[in-house]
Amino acid sequence: MSYTGPDFDPPQPRRSPLRRPLTVAIAALVPGALLGWGVYAAVGGPDDDGGTDRASGAATSRAPSPRDSAPGAKSPTGTSSSAVDDKPSASPSAPAANSGPLKGKVVVIDPGHNTGNFQHTSEINRKVDIGTNHKECDTTGTATNAGWPEAKFTLDVAHRLRTLLEAQGATVKLTQDGDRPYGPCVDERARIGNEAKADAAISIHADGAGAGNRGFHVILPGSVHDGAADTRAIVAPSAELGQRIAGNFVRVTGSAPSNYIGDGTGLVTRTDLGGLNLSTVPKVFIECGNMRDSKDAALLTSGAWRQKAAQGMSEGIVSFLRG
Ligand SMILES: [Zn+2]
Repeated sequence: MSYTGPDFDPPQPRRSPLRRPLTVAIAALVPGALLGWGVYAAVGGPDDDGGTDRASGAATSRAPSPRDSAPGAKSPTGTSSSAVDDKPSASPSAPAANSGPLKGKVVVIDPGHNTGNFQHTSEINRKVDIGTNHKECDTTGTATNAGWPEAKFTLDVAHRLRTLLEAQGATVKLTQDGDRPYGPCVDERARIGNEAKADAAISIHADGAGAGNRGFHVILPGSVHDGAADTRAIVAPSAELGQRIAGNFVRVTGSAPSNYIGDGTGLVTRTDLGGLNLSTVPKVFIECGNMRDSKDAALLTSGAWRQKAAQGMSEGIVSFLRG
């Protein structure tokens, strides 16, 4: 990203101490189905416009338990909803005993960018056919103001997510594992998911927007049918996948949906991304936060937060795959 943010602001410590007592209080008062958003509103998520119906649906229909943001407070209605609830809730880092509910399911995780891309600009600037257009093979990605690259973030979260999904019995494939000098190109990233016949695919990113822009968003494929791109069959299942991921991501991380894109839903549909346009399997991108915002960066650079991020994604994927 070309944007250069203002001087780095010191991390703001208020969110953590504030969230837990508020969450506990809310847990006693708010029906479980509304808890995720209640917590979000109560902790002063940026620019909360109250969410839309779509957002509420995404956040609430699959995700009633407050367990992660309030470890000591069990939801009074925590047993009322879907597949995510029958997973153990003791700890985000202690997934289910390996009962293998995802046995036979294939998940492809695409860690966005590659730390080597900076040294291979001519290769990654090569144009590739994404059906609707031609775009760069890959991009360098962004970085925090302190210089921590997005590509390191994405690979770390991918590893955490892989561990969680494998514990559920899934077969997991990464599009890159720090094992190649650059890339892969976006068309190959899509092809890897297609050839694996993935039941679900997710491309992990963090954004590089202006300071003050905060929160996560999930990018869904729009309907395109042009050249090699034909997403018509995956639009609906990808939206379902994305909604489940968004809802669980809110619940587990306590992070708010983006305040700068998606109208508060945490969901954005795009038709300009090769990784989505060329996919023939259900696939979404997730932008986990804004690396150029100091408060988001404080989260993104925290291993504990990244574990929650992976847990939220995992529970969304599990929910999707179990139906
Ligand atoms: Zn990215």
